[in-house]
Amino acid sequence: MPELPEVETVRASLEPKLVGRRFEGVEIFDSRLTRPADPAEVAAELVGEVVATVGRRGKYLIVRFESGLVLLIHLRMTGSLVHTRNGIEPDSHLRAVVSLDDGSDIRYHPYLATRLGLEPLEPAFSARDLGERLGGRRAPVKAALLDQRILAGVGNIYADEALWRARIDPMRPAGKLGEREIRALHRGIRRALEAGIARQGATLRDYRTPDGAAGGMQHEFKVYGRGGEPCSRCRAPIEKTRIAGRGTWFCPACQR
Ligand code: ZN
Repeated sequence: MPELPEVETVRASLEPKLVGRRFEGVEIFDSRLTRPADPAEVAAELVGEVVATVGRRGKYLIVRFESGLVLLIHLRMTGSLVHTRNGIEPDSHLRAVVSLDDGSDIRYHPYLATRLGLEPLEPAFSARDLGERLGGRRAPVKAALLDQRILAGVGNIYADEALWRARIDPMRPAGKLGEREIRALHRGIRRALEAGIARQGATLRDYRTPDGAAGGMQHEFKVYGRGGEPCSRCRAPIEKTRIAGRGTWFCPACQR
């Protein structure tokens, strides 16, 4: 599931390509995208509209047209919106195409359940399953945990928290973890996610209490966002690095 920063990245890249452009043609191949509205009706309504702004609210993209019409787009699962000029052949994941008046088009692809990985909180998810998915992978274990084709739903925060709980260095190659480490990681993933759910999700970056103070939930993270603070297990200062382009926090002393 894309988080807010990913949606903002998509918005910023689409904005210069869409603003001022007219929708010349719209094809929607999947009725789930417009439910309960009929996809052909939605498509017909969008043809001829000229884009005024491309905004974002939470995880929704908001396309406002000069006519006043507004289109809300939610990037479900690992959906992607791609701007292209070279008319790539449609594939089985293509769900919608908007042709623009400058000859380019915007294509929407979703990669649904079949491409999604294991569900970490399901009782059937075992340490053995996790070990099989990580086996043979040379990528850092942190990067593997973020790969939604391996595990569904673990984002940047809970990957760091799970690795701290498992005492595993996030840079370690995923395929090199031993059996005990896999078991510890399996337990760490579940405990980190359960703790997050118990706190009703601490991941809202702009979270403020009604009186305007920053939410206190982020203080319950063990490592995430705590660079320089002492590790609550061994007191060594938490360090920050980047793995797979994402900020990664870990304890250099007790995560091996
Ligand atoms: Zn430590």
